[in-house]
Amino acid sequence: MINIPKGTKDVLPEESYKWQFVEDTARSVAEVFNYKEIRTPVFEHTELFLRGVGETTDVVNKEMYTFEDKGGRSITLKPEGTAGAARLFIENGLGATPMPVKTFYLTPAFRYERPQKGRLREFHQFGIEVFGSPAPETDAEVIFAASSFLNKLGIKNTKLEINSIGCKTCRKEYHAALKNYFAPNLENMCATCRDRFEKNPLRILDCKEERCKAISLNAPQILDYLCEECSSHFKKVRSYLDAQNIKYSVNSRIVRGLDYYTKTVFEFVSEDIGAQGTVCGGGRYDNLLEELGGQSVPAIGFAAGIERLLLVMESVGAAFPENKKPPIYVAAIDENGRKKALETVMALREKGINAETDLMGRSVKAQMKYADKLGAEYVAVIGENELLSGSVNLKKMADGTSVSVKFDDIYTYLIKGD
Ligand code: ATP
Ligand code: MG
Repeated sequence: MINIPKGTKDVLPEESYKWQFVEDTARSVAEVFNYKEIRTPVFEHTELFLRGVGETTDVVNKEMYTFEDKGGRSITLKPEGTAGAARLFIENGLGATPMPVKTFYLTPAFRYERPQKGRLREFHQFGIEVFGSPAPETDAEVIFAASSFLNKLGIKNTKLEINSIGCKTCRKEYHAALKNYFAPNLENMCATCRDRFEKNPLRILDCKEERCKAISLNAPQILDYLCEECSSHFKKVRSYLDAQNIKYSVNSRIVRGLDYYTKTVFEFVSEDIGAQGTVCGGGRYDNLLEELGGQSVPAIGFAAGIERLLLVMESVGAAFPENKKPPIYVAAIDENGRKKALETVMALREKGINAETDLMGRSVKAQMKYADKLGAEYVAVIGENELLSGSVNLKKMADGTSVSVKFDDIYTYLIKGD
């Protein structure tokens, strides 16, 4: 027996309706916000993520699925969706189309992490990315979209935490302040943080190691270093959230895992699923496209982890729509009956009705039992009599009552009732 790889999961036939509900909800939110779907390959040139996610991030340092293909190229399975979306934007010249370009995706993502609750090696994301608008209204709209998505899933009690991590201008001064602060403690910090100290000290605030967390407790706060533009941008974003009555708290420790963020960053955090509580994270990345060799195009987006959303939905007892059951099971007594049963279910299916018949050569009794297990609303049994009379009894499983209906009228009966 060959088992599933560590950190991956199957979706079974009886649970896929839950995934479909989350995905359908994502698509319907995207539709009303006018985000158009994009699809990028599951693998990209490794270089894209080195530059697009950033070399000081955990994702690039420890978590990427990187391999050499048979042509000797370094390839990486996408660990997130933003870098690929940015590449798509640049490579397809979307910068020449009317702005903003509003996109969304549903994608698997791959990270070599220690599997635990809410943390997998293959997981799935619903993400949106908006290109071309520097305006704070856009930051607000992206947060509205995330909030609306969570509400529609029945996830009500997440906390929204927001922060601004500034731009190149204000971060220069802030980095200097951070370096001053961390320098005396450097030898007590983890190797990654010592490296971050040189390359991007802001990342130290994102370290998950207890000793580093303790040291960074009193670190200078980025909000005290924002330049005028970043500060007024952040103020406007907050005022739009207030106007929309969206509750949030400002958390200066949110810096997000990826290197390319600027200005607004945010997370929706759930307290219902343990340590891996961040169900959705996002932010502005005004410098990414230029860093990837494109024009300078401001952008902002979020990504929500579908597995974590499902965990929250299950833990808060959110209502999934019921798994669809076939309204009618057509059973057969003999070979002629089987032919007619096949013909009957096919006619119904052509009209969009979920109809089922026997594929196992079961006895009539066993077919009835199976129809009951399926949860069929009606059952019809076809034998010689039904073929002669041209009609069949539709038995309503809920109360055992039955009505004789002509074969040609079954569809109308199912649609209208009697
Ligand atoms: P975390 O703090 O949990 O490591 P992250 O900052 O690495 O998250 P992002 O890169 O922002 O995560 O990804 C966006 C979302 O994708 C997360 O909020 C989470 O819901 C989901 N996610 C990220 N990594 C995983 C994973 N290994 N397994 C399942 N879901 C994940
Ligand atoms: Mg992570």
